Amino acid sequence: MKLINDVSQAGTTINASNITVNKNGTLIFEPAVSNICSFITNKGGNIALKNGKFYLKNEGSDGVASFLAKGYAYKKKNGEWLTYDEAKSISKYTSDELYVVKCDHHEIDTDTKVCKYCNETLDVSVEWKSIDGTTKYFKDLKTALTDSAVTSGTSGTLKLLEDDNGNSLTINSGNFDLDLNGKKISSVGIIGGTVNIKNTAETTGEVLNLTIFSVQAKVTLGIGTKYSNIDATQPIGSMLVSGAVMKVDGTYATEAQLNSSVIGSAVEIVEIPLYITSEPTQNDLDSIVYGTAESGLLTFAFSKSGVTLKYKIDNYDEVTEEVTSNGIDLSTETALWNLPAGEHTLTVSATYPGYTINRTYPFTVSQSESNISID
Ligand SMILES: [Zn+2]
Repeated sequence: MKLINDVSQAGTTINASNITVNKNGTLIFEPAVSNICSFITNKGGNIALKNGKFYLKNEGSDGVASFLAKGYAYKKKNGEWLTYDEAKSISKYTSDELYVVKCDHHEIDTDTKVCKYCNETLDVSVEWKSIDGTTKYFKDLKTALTDSAVTSGTSGTLKLLEDDNGNSLTINSGNFDLDLNGKKISSVGIIGGTVNIKNTAETTGEVLNLTIFSVQAKVTLGIGTKYSNIDATQPIGSMLVSGAVMKVDGTYATEAQLNSSVIGSAVEIVEIPLYITSEPTQNDLDSIVYGTAESGLLTFAFSKSGVTLKYKIDNYDEVTEEVTSNGIDLSTETALWNLPAGEHTLTVSATYPGYTINRTYPFTVSQSESNISID
């Protein structure tokens, strides 16, 4: 037997209170109104529910999940969505009725693209999560970038689930993080809005061609992103997020490259590889007394060991030290204690590995009362 009820019979209500679908039986149930509460038991038949309010049971291995028509999902009485996995585990009548509703696919497994609520595999490649908790999926970036949820300015994250090869992608407005998620965008132009390009995947995310058409567009380039070509209206170095540094063709960028707004070479944004974690204070430097070798006044410490430290005082010869631990005390360098009283400059460069931090420290050497030198 096959029982079909559909909404084409508008106004029709079926108040069957107990339906049992036996082996070879088929029930396609789409009540026009959802205030019907039916007890449905499946004993080996086929059921496809659309809309309606039910008490359900299925003693089969897939529970009441198999009762859902394609694209439909369950909601609980309290309004919460019931996951497909939960529905699979329901074999007995639940204490509250279940509502069958059209699924809005608001949560999918981003690897398999399978909806958590209706179990449908979706043709999507972009995820949108707004700060207010709304999640939406889009076929491609172009569709996402024209959707009001994304363009309205509500902050959120637009995350790529697949590479996007779309042409003429344009961002006009919005306020979001563009998470490359280890994927690749072939070309995007940014005219307005606030866009933070970032990457949350282990593998680097890539934008082949990034064009920023206006200084009105506020764009940041995050760690773990790379570009083949950047054409901007502002210095590229000014767009780096804090803690980031830029490489061009595999080498740390020069000042000129950081100040440039157009780079047609491979640009990669990476984490700053080295920090000076401790350096002499002005007070330390000005405590240097001619002829008195006091240790601890010129101590440097670094975030990494293996730093090549070069230092130079005034125009004396540059000295190179390999810092095998995380720190070094230059106070032990006897040359320092023979500096004549007066103004001096210590220049320091710390390199690791290929990344250099330069510092300049002006200081004044005084003479101790017991050790006066008169030239
Ligand atoms: Zn769904």
